[in-house]
Amino acid sequence: MIADKTLDEWIQEHPILKNITIGDEVFWCNPQYDRFESAQTRISFSETHIKAAEERLNRFAPYISRVFPETQKTGGIIESPLIRIPNMQQGLVKEFKGEITGDLLLKCDSHLAISGSIKARGGIYEVLKHAEEVALQNKLITTDEDYIIFDSDKFRRFFSHYSIAVGSTGNLGLSIGIMGAQLGFQVFVHMSSDAKQWKKDLLRQKGVSVIEYQSDYSKAVEEGRKQADLDPNMHFIDDENSTDLFLGYAVAASRLTDQLAELNITVDETHPLFVYLPCGVGGGPGGITFGMKQQFKDHVHCFFAEPTSSPCMLLGLMTRLHGRISVRDFGLNNLTDADGLAVGSPSDFVGKTLEQMISGVYTVQDETLYGLLRILSDVEKISLEPSALAGMPGVSKLFHTVEGKHYLEIHGLRQHMPKATHIVWATGGSMVPQDMMKAYYRKGVQLSDKDAISDKDAINN
Ligand SMILES: *Cc1c(COP(=O)(O)O)cnc(C)c1O
Repeated sequence: MIADKTLDEWIQEHPILKNITIGDEVFWCNPQYDRFESAQTRISFSETHIKAAEERLNRFAPYISRVFPETQKTGGIIESPLIRIPNMQQGLVKEFKGEITGDLLLKCDSHLAISGSIKARGGIYEVLKHAEEVALQNKLITTDEDYIIFDSDKFRRFFSHYSIAVGSTGNLGLSIGIMGAQLGFQVFVHMSSDAKQWKKDLLRQKGVSVIEYQSDYSKAVEEGRKQADLDPNMHFIDDENSTDLFLGYAVAASRLTDQLAELNITVDETHPLFVYLPCGVGGGPGGITFGMKQQFKDHVHCFFAEPTSSPCMLLGLMTRLHGRISVRDFGLNNLTDADGLAVGSPSDFVGKTLEQMISGVYTVQDETLYGLLRILSDVEKISLEPSALAGMPGVSKLFHTVEGKHYLEIHGLRQHMPKATHIVWATGGSMVPQDMMKAYYRKGVQLSDKDAISDKDAINN
């Protein structure tokens, strides 16, 4: 039984579940999706909360710029480029044998400073917010002071009496660990079995305590939560429920609005915007969706992408059981090569909050990710980790699946598609060791057709 129904009853109610349980790729449109004005009335967060998060990041910018010199050129603001990828657009047309109209862009969170993934948004934001709160409570600073003083022995000594714990499949731990250790906190990262060795090694080098488990992400989170419950000076970063993480991610949207303007891209009634976001527990894509909706309301359409073996957000939204389901209830094993996406149960908070703002969710097999990784590397000379490719097939699926076409039809979008903008959110990759990236690429070559250009030529970028 799943809630009060058997799996067969669930399948009868939602026939697409049949395909999901056997691991087919699907494209699902969310029947709860509603107009922004109505969806927003159910949510207790607004633009004001995002603004406050943005201002907090601005206060810390001088400090970030000092301790992470790679952020000097952006004045201590951790932000990634938004670029056109016309060759990849042609690559997708060829790969999936179907037209894509409008412009295709890549949001390169894969190349965010400090930790090389989307987690450099939410994760770093929550650590900074916690540091500020503790410093304010202890009268070490006021909010109009220069936060450069966080880079001092006095502050590091002070923070060494405080600790931070987090459960992670890798990338969140990397962001929290690097930022927390830099401020002087003791950091404990509880890692699930799928976390990569290089991530654990890097954290240990920085003095972070890494605790390893033989089970998946949910267990790592549970253990982190338990540890923090016992210690009043320990802050637990709760990837499944944190509103701070959520708001840290949401800040991306107003900055993206400026980037679109710089590229002379219009978003309005006749110029729809589509965003394709890889989803693990949901905080990252959820926060970004929330921010994008504040900016563009009904003119932006956000689709989440999940592995076929871990479609937790899809199942949570479809059954409306949210955090109460696990992909295992549906016979799926939650095993995927997509780092960060091997999550069995979605964030209850994100699913419920955004139930009417998420346009839909589609699933992707690991083979598809490797194939697209190879193509992107060949035609655009950009290397991403496999999970970061999950956004990529969304655009083809929107145009060419029955469900995708239906979405365009019912929202009156069809005639505007020649002037549409599609943003694929690249969520990680720049910190992946080169030999590992080469192995990913080779896997893409093996899985794809023979006309792939040679390994050696393509990967040295
Ligand atoms: C964490 C992560 C995601 C998804 O973010 P969630 O907040 O877990 O949904 C996507 N891609 C990569 C590379 C990640 O590390």
